[in-house]
Amino acid sequence: MNQHDTDIIIAGGGLAGATLALAMARTLPQLRVTVVEAFPLSPDALPDSYQPSYDARSTALAWGSRLIFEELGLWQRLSEHATPIRHIHVSDRGHFGATRLNAADHHQEALGYVADNRWMGLCLMRELLKTGVVWEAPAEVTDMQPLPGGVRVTLGAESGQRELSARCLVVADGGRSGLREKLGFRVNEQAYDQHALIANVSTSHSHDYTAYERFTDAGPMALLPHGSPTRAGNTAALVWTLDNHALDDLLALSDDDKCQRLQQRFGWRLGRFTRIGECSHYPLTLKTVDESVRPGVVLVGNAAHTLHPVAGQGFNLALRGLMALVEQFRVATQRELPLGSLPVLKDYQARHRQDWQQTVRFSDSLIQLFGNHLPLVTTARDAGLMGLDLLPGAKRWFARQAMGMGGRRADIRTPGTLSTEPGNHD
Ligand SMILES: Cc1cc2nc3c(=O)[nH]c(=O)nc-3n(C[C@H](O)[C@H](O)[C@H](O)COP(=O)(O)OP(=O)(O)OC[C@H]3O[C@@H](n4cnc5c(N)ncnc54)[C@H](O)[C@@H]3O)c2cc1C
Repeated sequence: MNQHDTDIIIAGGGLAGATLALAMARTLPQLRVTVVEAFPLSPDALPDSYQPSYDARSTALAWGSRLIFEELGLWQRLSEHATPIRHIHVSDRGHFGATRLNAADHHQEALGYVADNRWMGLCLMRELLKTGVVWEAPAEVTDMQPLPGGVRVTLGAESGQRELSARCLVVADGGRSGLREKLGFRVNEQAYDQHALIANVSTSHSHDYTAYERFTDAGPMALLPHGSPTRAGNTAALVWTLDNHALDDLLALSDDDKCQRLQQRFGWRLGRFTRIGECSHYPLTLKTVDESVRPGVVLVGNAAHTLHPVAGQGFNLALRGLMALVEQFRVATQRELPLGSLPVLKDYQARHRQDWQQTVRFSDSLIQLFGNHLPLVTTARDAGLMGLDLLPGAKRWFARQAMGMGGRRADIRTPGTLSTEPGNHD
């Protein structure tokens, strides 16, 4: 077991890679974990305090993700700068259908939360500093070769190249994963021919802790509550999906005109849009892999699946996958099975598959359904939204998906929840 330089190498220390490292340190402290991160950030050079900025990028965390962060002992700290989502309002511009989900109906204080990515990163790094996880940055994993019972990974850094052997390589290098391509994983790609425009906006009315998902003829948009409501106004995090032409049009406008355009599309539920911050945009593609494992290698986070951001499911799905992987490693360690062996990794893949297939279908069908302007489909979706309001079972199902509670997830605290019975191991 100790013939390798380390046990697990995580390529990529973004939200997925850093969370996995922490979950490994919490659950399997006897294993040696090395994170290799291309960006020059290090746990030793962290700012002492956090100053939220108006232009901070944020993530909608489902209720299920809060439970995971609680298990990791991180929630209390994270919640200091997380805005609760107490209501979700889904509507279709120009049509009568609408539905509203309330946390109180599900006996919970929130359906989810909105947290700044930078804040989540800082909380994770502060915790990692207290563990034995080794952080290599700036450095890149540039190649990987299989070894008996493990892998040999090539690290490129300013100081030169070196090799590191491990029992398993976890690829967490993001949606444009260079390693996934290099290692020959087959990617299914479905371009939506759209971009997501991201910006924070100020509104004259209180967000009242409501997340709005609105489907318009110019593309779906989400407005998430961001920060506490104040008398001076509120901030909401905007994710607006636009086709390429509409995006170019919008970006050419002044900030005042952008607010006005947003007002036309969104309406007045949040009062007047008074300010829009720095706008960034991303091309939208649904990327999935049929196989996320190879002997000694497993893909996680956006490297395994990149979803449409309007449904706010990408990181939440990734988190559940990370916990399933940690549980798989725990069971394998208990049974003295090789961590990177194909049967162990395939068992993980099989357990996570139902969750990711369901989540991908949920996000994709929302976009397909609400992106369609055929009268029959619009009528059907209005009926669907009304049906959600009228049928408690359907609404509960929708709420569970939105809260990240729709998929099966292994409990990292309960020993033996997985039935790993691998046959031959490499
Ligand atoms: C516009 C937008 C809005 C979103 N909103 C939501 C939301 O509301 N809710 C939600 O659940 N999800 C959301 N998502 C998805 C979410 O942002 C991602 O799932 C999340 O960031 C996890 O990313 P990751 O860690 O897998 O990849 P990344 O964040 O891309 O991190 C990859 C890391 O790997 C490093 N790296 C790259 N190559 C190498 C290499 N060869 N060696 C070493 N390091 C390397 C990079 O420097 C980077 O730090 C959104 C995504 C987008 C684009």
